[in-house]
Amino acid sequence: MDEFEKAVDDIYEATGGIMERDKIKKELREWISRFGVPLIVAKREIISKYHGKVPNNDEKYISVEELKPGMGRVNLQVKVVSINQKTYEVDGSKKIMHYGMAGDETGVIPFTAWTLDVDLRKGDCVEIHNAYTREWQGQTKLIIGQNTRLKLMPPNSVKVKSNVKPAKIVELHPHMGLVEVVGKVISADKREVYVDDVPREIYSGTIADDTGEIPFTSWDIPVQAGDVIRITGAYVSTYRGMAQLVFDNRSTVKKEDLNIEIKSIPVQVESLEGRGGFNVLVEGVIIDIKDGSGLIYRCPECGRALNGTTCPVHGRVKPRADLRVKAIIDDGTGAVLCLFNREQTEKMLGMDLDEVIDKVKENMGNTSVIMDMLEEKLFARPLRVRGNVIDEEKYGLRMFVKDFDFLDLEDISKKAESLLEELGW
Ligand SMILES: [Zn+2]
Repeated sequence: MDEFEKAVDDIYEATGGIMERDKIKKELREWISRFGVPLIVAKREIISKYHGKVPNNDEKYISVEELKPGMGRVNLQVKVVSINQKTYEVDGSKKIMHYGMAGDETGVIPFTAWTLDVDLRKGDCVEIHNAYTREWQGQTKLIIGQNTRLKLMPPNSVKVKSNVKPAKIVELHPHMGLVEVVGKVISADKREVYVDDVPREIYSGTIADDTGEIPFTSWDIPVQAGDVIRITGAYVSTYRGMAQLVFDNRSTVKKEDLNIEIKSIPVQVESLEGRGGFNVLVEGVIIDIKDGSGLIYRCPECGRALNGTTCPVHGRVKPRADLRVKAIIDDGTGAVLCLFNREQTEKMLGMDLDEVIDKVKENMGNTSVIMDMLEEKLFARPLRVRGNVIDEEKYGLRMFVKDFDFLDLEDISKKAESLLEELGW
C-alpha cells in the first residue's frame, strides 16, 4: 500500500467511516495539488476538519433558516440562546417542560422540549437528532420530543447569527430572539451570586421607554439608575409569569446621550398573553365580579382567605376582616382578572371597613349585601387599571392593581378617535 492509500485509510478510520473513500481521495488530492500541502499535513487537516462533523447519508443537517412548520425527523446543530422551564401537571403528576431559543449562523428559532436526554444549558452547542416542527403563533417552532436525541458539541462550535431586532418595551415577548432596546434605567440593584462556584454580579431593576417599563437582569454588566442605555443582543425570558429583559457579556450595552420621555400607554390585554407585564395600563369594562369579593376574613398569621375560623395551616384562629374585589376586565381583545385591595374597595364602595362590617351586621351577618353593592356600582363600568400582570397557566392573566380610575364611555371613544388620527386613519 502506498503512502497515499494509507493516508486515505487513516482518514477513513479517524472520521469514523462517515466519509466515503472516494470523497477522501478527492479532497486529499486537492489539498496536495492545489494547496501544495505535504501529505502528512493534508491528512491532519482533513481529519480535524471532518472529525465527528460529517453527516452520514441518512443524517443530513438542516439549517434553522430552512425550517418550516410541519417538518418531521429534522437534524440540526444549534446553540442554545436561552432556556427556561415550566412545571405542569399531566394526569396528576408533575412534569417539567423546557422552552427557549436556539440558533445557528442562519437564524434563531423558538423551541420546546418535552424531554431532555442531556442537561441543556444556555450557551451549549448541541446536535439535535430527530426533532420536528410545528406552527406556533405564525412562527415555526422546533419541538424536541420523546424520540429526539441530543448530543453536546464542543463549546462555541456553533455561531449564532445576530439577527438582533430593535424593539420597543411594550413589544418585548419571550419568543422574539435577540433584541435591541433603548431605555432609561429606572432602578438598579447589585448583588453577588455564585454560579458553578464562580462569583457573578447581578444587576436587577426596571428599564423604561416611551411605551412602557420592564424588569431586567444584567449578568456582570454594571447598570446605573438614571442612565439611558442601548442594549444590543438582549433576550426576553419570563420569571414568575412576567417578562424580563436579560443581558450579559455577549450583549453590548452603551450609554446614550438621549432624552427619553417615559410614558405608559394602555396595552391590549391580548398582548399580555405569555408575557404578563410590569406596571401596565389596561382600559376596559368590568364584565364580571367574582365570588370572594367584598367582605372576607383572613388568617391573621398567613393572610389566607378563610371560610370559617380554621386555617388549613394554622388551625383555629381569630380571623381578620378585609375587603377585596376580584373583577374581570375585558378590553375587547382579551380578559384579565384584576385584584383590588382593601383601600381600593373602600374607594369603590364609598365606605370604610368598619362601616362595611356594621352594614353586614344590620343584614343579619349576610355579606352578600356588600357583593350586591359592588355588582351595582361596578358591573359594566369602564375603567383604567394600572398594575403588574402575571400570566400563569393555572390562573391565566392576573393584575395586582396599583391604581385605577373610572372612565366615561365618551372618554374612551374620543381617545380611540385621536389614536386613530395619530396613526393616520
Ligand atoms: Zn394561616
